[in-house]
Amino acid sequence: MGLRPWHTSWFPELLRIESDSDRKDVLKKASKRVTYGAGYYLAFVAVVLCGVLVARVVQSACSRWGALPGYLAGTASALACGAAGGLLFLSAREKISRNIRLELVARGMPVCIECGYDLTGNESGVCPECGEPVADELQVR
Ligand SMILES: [Zn+2]
Repeated sequence: MGLRPWHTSWFPELLRIESDSDRKDVLKKASKRVTYGAGYYLAFVAVVLCGVLVARVVQSACSRWGALPGYLAGTASALACGAAGGLLFLSAREKISRNIRLELVARGMPVCIECGYDLTGNESGVCPECGEPVADELQVR
């Protein structure tokens, strides 16, 4: 089974790799290298707790005025969980992207580790996109 289309739209760096099965390997490796520290889980719990709190407030507002539909409470906590998941995903995605770029560089493909910009033929030693110094092994000598 090859990569799904969303893989390459989320990680456009993968398009630099020729074969589909190779892309899959690189993505797998890049994802495995991401470590999820305690901060991830704390952030997740915090957002969910906020969601529960919001749900409580909405619920009490509902019973006080009777004007708001009760499902709002459920929606509020669902949104909070979604937001928490989304944040975690975005931060994991950034780490995975970085690992993919590291892998590309290791394979001799010049990309900026920081932003993924194509550094082929770069002579300034600095990424023109984000200003990050170009990795030593990519310097044109
Ligand atoms: Zn850059």
